[in-house]
Amino acid sequence: MGLEAKLPNGILLANVEKLVNWTRKTSMWPATFGLACCAIEMMTVGGSRYDISRFGMERFSATPRQADLMIVAGRVTNKMAPVLRQIYDQMPEPRWVLAMGVCASSGGMFNNYAVVQGVDHVVPVDMYLPGCPPRPEMLLDAILKLHAKVMDEPINAKRAALQLERGERTPMIPSSEKYAPKNAMQRRRAKRQQDAQRKEMGGDPKFGALKEPSGRKEISAGR
Ligand code: SF4
Repeated sequence: MGLEAKLPNGILLANVEKLVNWTRKTSMWPATFGLACCAIEMMTVGGSRYDISRFGMERFSATPRQADLMIVAGRVTNKMAPVLRQIYDQMPEPRWVLAMGVCASSGGMFNNYAVVQGVDHVVPVDMYLPGCPPRPEMLLDAILKLHAKVMDEPINAKRAALQLERGERTPMIPSSEKYAPKNAMQRRRAKRQQDAQRKEMGGDPKFGALKEPSGRKEISAGR
């Protein structure tokens, strides 16, 4: 984790709220709830390329009892709404809901009697993710923003009242900005990593474009 390097004396000072929120956000287990095409993008984040396990979230739970994040990926029909609500009710507190894609967020293009016009008619939503479908990177960005919100959650009613009084709100900074290299050394390191990745995938580090797969070349040569 690199924690040992950051704590050479083995002492860490923190308040309970931060520690509890940190443990919650670093072990968030999603409930499997793919309903339509958006679910394919959701499944992709579990693969090695996007690697959701970096955030302690690789375990997509098939049972609501061990899940605390419901990612609603796809349109919710009126027939499915009571099932969705039941699964939400069976999830232990604290729990969060992410509406993935326009269909889950607002019904999208399906403005008809069969589709619920936004999953927030059925369960409270913590994070809306636009797009049709949103790319896996967008889902990761939404998850990281939700993590930032979880880190700022008050631990009790007194702390909640204090936050309200101070008007404290979690700033929603895009991940591309928040985690961008801050100085020349970090930029150089990021560039080296990018180049190595491109090389590994068969691309030219100079231009960033991927080479045409050799199989396709053979087919075009034969024509
Ligand atoms: S938002 Fe687009 S991709 Fe996602 S479920 Fe709706 S139609 Fe499918």
